Amino acid sequence: MAYDADVIVIGAGLAGLAAAAELADAGRKVILLDQEPEQNLGGQAHWSFGGLFFVDSPEQRRMRVKDSHALALQDWMGTAAFDREEDHWPRKWAEAYVDFAAGEKRAWLHDMGVRFFPVVGWAERGGYDAQGHGNSVPRFHITWGTGPGLVAPFERRVRQAAANGLVDLRFRHRVTGLGRSAGSVDTVTGEILVPSEAERGTPSSREVAGEFELRAQAVIITSGGIGGNHDLVRRNWPKRLGKAPEKMLSGVPAHVDGLMLGVAEDAGARLINRDRMWHYTEGIDNWNPIWPKHAIRILPGPSSLWLDARGRRLPAPLWPGYDTLGTLEHIMRSGHEYTWFVLNQRIIGKEFALSGSEQNPDLTGKSVRDVLQRGRQPVPGPVKAFMDKGADFVVENNLSALVRGMNALTEEPLIDEADLRRLVEARDRETANPFTKDLQITAIHGARAYLGDKLIRTVAPHPILDPKAGPLIAVRLNIMTRKTLGGLETDLSSRVLTETGDPLPGVYAAGETAGFGGGGVHGYRSLEGTFLGGCLFSGRTAGRAAAKAL
Ligand SMILES: Cc1cc2nc3c(=O)[nH]c(=O)nc-3n(C[C@H](O)[C@H](O)[C@H](O)COP(=O)(O)OP(=O)(O)OC[C@H]3O[C@@H](n4cnc5c(N)ncnc54)[C@H](O)[C@@H]3O)c2cc1C
Repeated sequence: MAYDADVIVIGAGLAGLAAAAELADAGRKVILLDQEPEQNLGGQAHWSFGGLFFVDSPEQRRMRVKDSHALALQDWMGTAAFDREEDHWPRKWAEAYVDFAAGEKRAWLHDMGVRFFPVVGWAERGGYDAQGHGNSVPRFHITWGTGPGLVAPFERRVRQAAANGLVDLRFRHRVTGLGRSAGSVDTVTGEILVPSEAERGTPSSREVAGEFELRAQAVIITSGGIGGNHDLVRRNWPKRLGKAPEKMLSGVPAHVDGLMLGVAEDAGARLINRDRMWHYTEGIDNWNPIWPKHAIRILPGPSSLWLDARGRRLPAPLWPGYDTLGTLEHIMRSGHEYTWFVLNQRIIGKEFALSGSEQNPDLTGKSVRDVLQRGRQPVPGPVKAFMDKGADFVVENNLSALVRGMNALTEEPLIDEADLRRLVEARDRETANPFTKDLQITAIHGARAYLGDKLIRTVAPHPILDPKAGPLIAVRLNIMTRKTLGGLETDLSSRVLTETGDPLPGVYAAGETAGFGGGGVHGYRSLEGTFLGGCLFSGRTAGRAAAKAL
């Protein structure tokens, strides 16, 4: 039977686009399938903030950050904490990925026209020792144009290849089976879904209009993770975190359904580290949702007080932006699934960034004027919209009213005003000197020693109750799903492996579906900004390896 293409790529997100572009560059014919309509091209990456992990970049050097490959590898390994037999390939991918991030990654993207915001962000700071979790230095580089700015060159390459007859884009094709003949997986079957006008990111119909069967010499799976499928998240919830939360919001669109992982397993692929996931603990209900249970993640600076549902301070170093997984573990033990930030307008104005392209119209629209304007306002427009309309926000001029508002938002009134007042006043007394016994305030002083934080991300320590810095704000924080850290086990050529450790003939995987490389390049935790780059690196590797193998 004749082949319909050299390679079939399943999933037109960033990883699929990167793989297809490389295949086309090598002169291979590709069919790129996606279950969603064309307006969804780019998948999650379109919605992303475009944060990228680089090591020792010109942006870091301009901000007086001294970074190195050795320091980044130390941070990655301390953060990943690989400890399983199945971490063999993930660990090798981690080493290769740090090489890429410290090597050709930035120049490769720069040559394609991608540019970066000059101030580098400092995500996941850790707060333990030098060998523990976290970024020792700022490494989160925001793409100028955010997610869409990163997708653009890859979309351009794929559309050009389509115009040249090398790539055949087929939307509304939902893969449900992989078949073999002569030992190699070469058949892709599935359903053709009815046409859909659903806007990008919104759920599209699953009504079936027909079936398809296509054949190629190789198949690359780039179908994304499981974060939009809460049943799968619950089923794979890590035992060490106890029971999955009753209430979870979604940080990803519904197409991140994880169903293709089961299809790959049925065909013989090995799925590893399925209990490793990267959920955020600073999720707020989107007042203007695009997808079901749409949550926005706050990317917080370090100054907000982080309190559990009873108003008790989270222990050091569980401060905003330090240790996502450690905070989640703490919350799951606390008996309540939500927590609180307590802060004031001065802090929110400088320290709240919201993740997502649509929450950053200035950066997404590449408007220098609007970016400068952001710094001139007391609170940036998208954050102000949440203060005014967000279901999780309480804004009041005094602490009594704030506590009343907090208690009115929850089923039980768990915040005691007198206790909270004592806590905040004690914390505020610690801001009078440039030194203090309060470790969070010490951390704020430390953050401001970094030029980028001092300029745009971290306010000087001051009393939260200072009326000049008001009004007071409380934000209820929810657990929200986002990234899948485990996935299909792959070797360094992105070949999918079976239970025996041998390659599953003809099958490659990349992006979130492959745990961003190897079946879990991040181990237990991420240094942030590592997912988009992981899609690009593993997608490029899969495309090049498949092209070479044909
Ligand atoms: C709001 C937001 C902000 C983010 N910010 C950042 C950031 O700043 N930095 C960072 O590194 N990462 C960020 N991420 C994460 C990053 O965007 C994703 O991990 C990455 O884009 C995943 O790309 P992918 O190609 O692997 O999968 P996806 O983008 O999920 O694409 C997979 C595609 O496969 C299709 N598909 C699935 N199953 C099938 C099937 N059976 N048949 C046919 N098609 C199928 C889907 O429809 C989809 O189009 C963010 C994510 C979001 C949502």
